Amino acid sequence: MIIDVTDLHKSFGDHEVLAGINCSVAEQEVVCVIGPSGSGKSTFLRCLNLLEEVTSGEVVIDGHSLTDRRVKIDAVRAEIGMVFQQFNLFPHKSVIENIMLAPMKVRRLSKAAARDRGRALLKKVGLEEKENAYPGSLSGGQQQRVAIARALAMEPKIMLFDEPTSSLDPELVGEVLAVMKNLALEGMTMVVVTHEMGFAREVGDRVLFMDGGVLVEEGSPQEIFDNPQHERTQAFLNKVL
Ligand code: ADP
Ligand code: MG
Repeated sequence: MIIDVTDLHKSFGDHEVLAGINCSVAEQEVVCVIGPSGSGKSTFLRCLNLLEEVTSGEVVIDGHSLTDRRVKIDAVRAEIGMVFQQFNLFPHKSVIENIMLAPMKVRRLSKAAARDRGRALLKKVGLEEKENAYPGSLSGGQQQRVAIARALAMEPKIMLFDEPTSSLDPELVGEVLAVMKNLALEGMTMVVVTHEMGFAREVGDRVLFMDGGVLVEEGSPQEIFDNPQHERTQAFLNKVL
């Protein structure tokens, strides 16, 4: 298991947002997380790469316990790529510069090597001709594909996606999901918070349904979408499908 979460609790003040999550993810697995707004999906993802400090419980990433004081958090974090709803590209840097930045700074790659890697990744996400463009001149779908390439430039072992298509116009959603699907087919380990039930059904190996800070139900896409066991899962799916 490349991700192993045991009894994860997270509170903000006296508001308990995650109330004991147990979950593990195997290498090369694609896990889609669904659930209503406010159920703790983003907080859960953020705990996986320590963007949030956990209140209690354990998160083990690739054998490193994130709550162990001796763990090199930055090294573990560098193994995890994250893509958010907002693309967070640097507006004053070109597309290729956005992608080259972290590998040069964190991985100590030479400029030439970072550029080569960036070009290969732009090709992978179908944007090789946008190398010198600035983010502001790109569509939302293109910007999100750059953000995915930027995350991949660190050669992460795990990719976390938090509603990567939620801010996009409907006609741009497909191009981003296609890039994510290819990544899944290549064997990337992925945890994807999404409202795209078609993607979860087609690409997900497993679907987790969260509500009220707990993992209510998990199973194969067929189990969750065609035969949900819990009333809360059924009620949620009735609203969104
Ligand atoms: P989801 O992604 O499922 O919509 P979130 O993880 O964003 O849910 O939020 C779960 C709950 O935690 C919400 O009630 C939200 O207001 C609260 N929350 C999230 N982040 C913070 C924070 N930094 N401080 C206080 N409350 C927060
Ligand atoms: Mg969220």
